[in-house]
Amino acid sequence: MGEPFKIAIIGSGPGGLSAAARAARSGLSHVLLERTDHVSDTIYKYQKGKFVMATPDILPLRAEIPFSAGKRETILAAWNKEIAALGVNLRTNAEVTAIKKDGERFLIKLAGGEVVEALNVILAIGLQGNLNKMRCEGAELPLVQYQLDDPDAFEAETIVVIGAGDAAIENAVALARRNTVVIVNRRDEFARAKQGNLTAITGAIEKDEIHCYYNSAPLKIEPDALILETAEGQARVACDRIIARLGASAPRKFVESCGVVFPSEDPSALPEVSNKYESNVPGLYIIGALGGYPLIKQAMNQGYEVVE
Ligand SMILES: Cc1cc2nc3c(=O)[nH]c(=O)nc-3n(C[C@H](O)[C@H](O)[C@H](O)COP(=O)(O)OP(=O)(O)OC[C@H]3O[C@@H](n4cnc5c(N)ncnc54)[C@H](O)[C@@H]3O)c2cc1C
Repeated sequence: MGEPFKIAIIGSGPGGLSAAARAARSGLSHVLLERTDHVSDTIYKYQKGKFVMATPDILPLRAEIPFSAGKRETILAAWNKEIAALGVNLRTNAEVTAIKKDGERFLIKLAGGEVVEALNVILAIGLQGNLNKMRCEGAELPLVQYQLDDPDAFEAETIVVIGAGDAAIENAVALARRNTVVIVNRRDEFARAKQGNLTAITGAIEKDEIHCYYNSAPLKIEPDALILETAEGQARVACDRIIARLGASAPRKFVESCGVVFPSEDPSALPEVSNKYESNVPGLYIIGALGGYPLIKQAMNQGYEVVE
């Protein structure tokens, strides 16, 4: 067997990129394995022109690559430039399908069958590969989608956005520039939203630019409508498109197959890690969204710290 890498980092989101940048800067042998053909697929898939927030403001950034609030395009360009300058050993189109421990080494199997060996593994695969889907009748109909690339690609449509988090709000507000937009919120407020998004959505609802169904949930989808269960009874919302932003969950089957234990059967459960981000599998570390930290700056700081 050849010499294993000191560190294999799986997933090139902000967490994995930051870990790889720190490893490169420290002269540690490493490989960064990314499933797609570009870095940071979650950020790559944000809607075009999205203003990325760098919250929490009081948290200082600890990373070898830059990050501040701004356009997703600018952030990705800066990261690509920096990782090239640092000499990060990036392999794209390298989806990891299995991780097994063999003595001191981890054997990391890629989709094509190749096996990469490393002494330590940093799992930074996030949650966005496992989006929560709608479960009501008609959910498989073609008017339902779970991502939005370019809000300006749609015009004069009636679009229902389902969800009350940042992704739903950002989609709804951007789509409302050229379309009639309805947002469906299970609760009576947008409690999970970042302050900027909260201001934007409540302002748009007050000005009648977006109609909101509060305390409402999808009951059924028809080819041209969404049937809602509301506090006042059923409502039929005729629409051209439904964009469901229902969050994401850990790719549990894959993570468990690596030997990592989840604390409960709850679908929203995440693996527990030590204060050094080590999982119950010695040498296998978990950072970022998969470890329960849902912000870019947190993931980047963890990437730096886990390598330290
Ligand atoms: C729509 C939306 C808007 C958001 N806006 C903001 C914001 O403004 N500010 C903010 O701080 N946070 C925001 N977030 C949250 C932020 O994107 C996440 O917290 C962050 O991306 C998590 O980073 P990560 O490195 O843990 O994982 P991710 O960024 O999800 O990266 C995981 C990477 O791993 C790769 N991968 C997955 N599985 C495999 C595999 N088996 N093998 C190889 N590679 C794999 C993926 O392709 C991906 O590139 C937003 C999230 C969403 C969905």
